Amino acid sequence: MKIVFASAEVSPIAKTGGLGDVCGSLPKALAKLGHDVTIFMPCYRQAREWFANNGVELEEALPTTHVSWADWAAESNFLRTTLPGTEIPLILVANDYYFRRPHIYSPRFDGYDDGIERFTFFCRAVVRGCELLGIAPDIVHAHDWHTALLPVYLHSGLRRTDQFEHARSVYTIHNLNYQGIGAAERFPSFGLHSRYWAPDALEHFRDVNLMKGGIILADQVTTVSPTYAREIQTPEHGAGLDGILRSLAFKLQGIVNGIDVEEWDSETDPYLRSHFSAQRLAGKNLSKRALLRELKLPLKAKTPLLSFISRLVDQKGIDLLIAALPHMLAAGAQAVILGSGEPRYENALRQIAAQHPDSCRVVIGFDNPLAHRIYAGADILLMPSMYEPCGLNQMYALRYGTVPVVRLTGGLADTVIPFHGANLETANGFGFLSTNAADFFTATWLAMLNYREPKTWRRLQANGMAADFSWERSAREYESVYHRALNS
Ligand code: ADP
Repeated sequence: MKIVFASAEVSPIAKTGGLGDVCGSLPKALAKLGHDVTIFMPCYRQAREWFANNGVELEEALPTTHVSWADWAAESNFLRTTLPGTEIPLILVANDYYFRRPHIYSPRFDGYDDGIERFTFFCRAVVRGCELLGIAPDIVHAHDWHTALLPVYLHSGLRRTDQFEHARSVYTIHNLNYQGIGAAERFPSFGLHSRYWAPDALEHFRDVNLMKGGIILADQVTTVSPTYAREIQTPEHGAGLDGILRSLAFKLQGIVNGIDVEEWDSETDPYLRSHFSAQRLAGKNLSKRALLRELKLPLKAKTPLLSFISRLVDQKGIDLLIAALPHMLAAGAQAVILGSGEPRYENALRQIAAQHPDSCRVVIGFDNPLAHRIYAGADILLMPSMYEPCGLNQMYALRYGTVPVVRLTGGLADTVIPFHGANLETANGFGFLSTNAADFFTATWLAMLNYREPKTWRRLQANGMAADFSWERSAREYESVYHRALNS
């Protein structure tokens, strides 16, 4: 199959979270299954820097091109390279006005959030790029609201062109809560027939809603875990689109993300000085010692090291963490927190660290090498997420013998099997259901008690380390979705 991926994030070039990880990894697994994948992403300042820092020269794939749609036109350059470490073509869509900004999602220089304009341009450029580069896809795989217009364009007549005649669309929801909502006045700038300004297309209560358009008009829709696929059909997690998702459930499927098992391999990880496996866990103890030294925390026997690595936003259950963490420290744990995000959370966490200088460290920032050392060196990973479409951290933790304590929502419920005393053959973590900080504390306390039982703990670690989180398993499920899309 000829598959075109279009995404706002592709790891390791530009990523803020799971979207980037998926779009950097799934194409590799699909290519291994014999598919012909081409990836399009915006050429952010960060992307140019990434390639410059890694000594990669970007090649001009086309002369400077006018991309025009509706009554808009913008110049685009198409730069060609390959997804790092692979032969998979990666086309970067360059336009300095839209993409040369301090951060991936920075607003315009005057503070106006022009995200919808930027990604409309990107989608039009993907279409133009395919036309000029002679790419005739069977599947256009769009991800999240940024590229939701691609299924809409395919539905609206693009399929009548030679290039896209056979193309079918698959749209993946990585996080339903970011929908690409704009004022009704934005609609004409998409260059679509007025038929698409309707509640069964892009209109949602008189606003433009790109996520909604992608869901309704794509041939197949996926999201990143079966539990999240069910949850988003409920008013509690549906973010206003649950009714639509219920009525379109026949074309909605949840597929748990894989992880890059080469990057996340405790036996070879270049960020670690000591390596380990389920059979030889001594290296994990050494990793813990090294981490405690790095964090300037004392090494104490029988003291579990809790960890938390995340964007600091309310989705991640930071309110529960802030309420429960002092009690966990008082109960005898040490903790390391790595994250950045909302200043109120950064400050509250810094304050807890200041009040517990002997047992808690908070590192504000995004630091991938440190994240690797934490997954390897910590004993327990905390993930009290309010919702979690898939979640990758718990899978990295499981692979590194770090036992997760999670709120049983979305992908966390699909990957963590909570220990309840009688399921040691299969359990790999601890869980709780409510959004109550006391329940989060109790689940963590239970984990801390079991940490003191070496036999039980080693079994929980071994169960987690044995799980198959490879992308091959997920890629095969995507393959079936592509087949369904082609037959639709
Ligand atoms: P989301 O996409 O909602 O942020 P995921 O669990 O799907 O959550 O993915 C988070 C990814 O970002 C993981 O690879 C995690 O290790 C990484 N990450 C998050 N915050 C940080 C940080 N401060 N430093 C390093 N890596 C981080």
